[in-house]
Amino acid sequence: MSYVDEVYDKVVKQNPGEVEFHQAVKEVLDSLKLVIDANEENYRKMGLLERLVEPERIISFRVPWVDDHGQVQVNKGFRVQFNSAIGPYKGGLRLHPSVNQGILKFLGFEQVFKNSLTGLPIGGGKGGSNFDPKGKSDREVMAFCQSFMTELSKYIGADQDVPAGDIGVGAREIGFMYGQYKRLTGLYEGVLTGKGLTYGGSLVRTQATGYGLVYILDEMLKDNGKEMAGKTVVISGSGNVAIYATEKAQQLGAKVVALSDSSGYIYDKDGIKLDLVKEIKEVRRGRIKDYVDEVPTAVYTEGTGIWSIPCDVALPCATQNELNLEDAKTLKANGCLAVAEGANMPSTREATDFYLENGILFMPGKAANAGGVATSALEMSQNSQRLSWTFDEVDERLHNIMVQIYEKAASAAERYGVKGNYVAGANIAGFEKVVDAMTAQGIV
Ligand code: NDP
Repeated sequence: MSYVDEVYDKVVKQNPGEVEFHQAVKEVLDSLKLVIDANEENYRKMGLLERLVEPERIISFRVPWVDDHGQVQVNKGFRVQFNSAIGPYKGGLRLHPSVNQGILKFLGFEQVFKNSLTGLPIGGGKGGSNFDPKGKSDREVMAFCQSFMTELSKYIGADQDVPAGDIGVGAREIGFMYGQYKRLTGLYEGVLTGKGLTYGGSLVRTQATGYGLVYILDEMLKDNGKEMAGKTVVISGSGNVAIYATEKAQQLGAKVVALSDSSGYIYDKDGIKLDLVKEIKEVRRGRIKDYVDEVPTAVYTEGTGIWSIPCDVALPCATQNELNLEDAKTLKANGCLAVAEGANMPSTREATDFYLENGILFMPGKAANAGGVATSALEMSQNSQRLSWTFDEVDERLHNIMVQIYEKAASAAERYGVKGNYVAGANIAGFEKVVDAMTAQGIV
């Protein structure tokens, strides 16, 4: 049995029930086969893959808080500190009822390679809780965040582990957590990114994942003789990533016709009015269906099905496994030419294989959504220097980083004889740097 298959089997046996983690490990290891086979003897002796798939540390804790009726609630809190070979752990915090250890391990594992790809000195981690911020009052969210940070604060720090936002964690939650960290430790340091602009946040961080997604998509299209202008785009989700992907796609002359949330999706043939979406989602914290109340020519459909809308470009920006093989076939039948992932692992393995076998240009999340964490690392740099760069300065750095990620993924794929396979390219490029650093640091 090959080393890759052997390690994958062990992962499945030793991490029962963690299906998303198994899926992520399989996708990465399979696409690294070419590199691993070439170095099998050495990697095997060093236990390299066994170390790569085992988090350095997982912290799991109780999060008790009091709701608005005086009732005590208890949630599960986690931080997965996956790999610190190239820098302090870095990765978001997710607050969603579906959160469990397996999901955070998949996200942390992906994060290791993504962070490596950015070229910046950041290791990989991920954390969160099964707390659902939806429908909670500001006071309840604050009570939860303070309790969560009371425990988490013992394990993080500006040079140790620097969490950020993810699903359910935006500026409000980061603010509450930062306040509590400062109160507990007495330190005013860059321990979280995605902070507000008045207390150490970076310009462009809010927009970074969505903008970065469209920057790398634009690069991939150009390199394949195509362009963004005039393209019809379907984007799932209507959160942070989806909103700013829409904004940048529109700025580059594309027409975004659909957005969604976990209840359903909207289709606006005239192009999404983004100011209205921002008002509904960022200010009112409402549902995407509220859009059609104000734009009667748009249509709202309950449930899934957004991928049946004809488009040139599909950008899944909601959550994992939201686009399956049937969806991929529908996209192809409708003439879709490119898919780029704003979310983490939104395409199932079968969908990913279908894109690659059927000539759909495909940029995986690991590369495509790395703009968020890259800008978080720029926020860390500004915090260390006690400086604030201008919007244009940060945006230009983000743009350059996305162009470089594209080049790294494209050239690694070419080097290993799989030109145009950006899944393999991104995994290989991310892997090489981490392995080099791990090898240099001995058996740790
Ligand atoms: P938000 O919480 O801002 O938005 C998430 C959006 O996805 C919402 O519209 C939400 O709908 C929808 N959604 C969430 N869960 C589900 C589900 N199970 N089924 C259908 N729709 C769902 O999160 P972000 O925009 O920050 O994150 C979106 C994705 O991008 C995630 O995969 C995240 O890991 C990834 N990502 C985010 C980065 C960032 O900087 N924020 C960086 C890199 C990746 P509803 O409101 O109904 O729940």
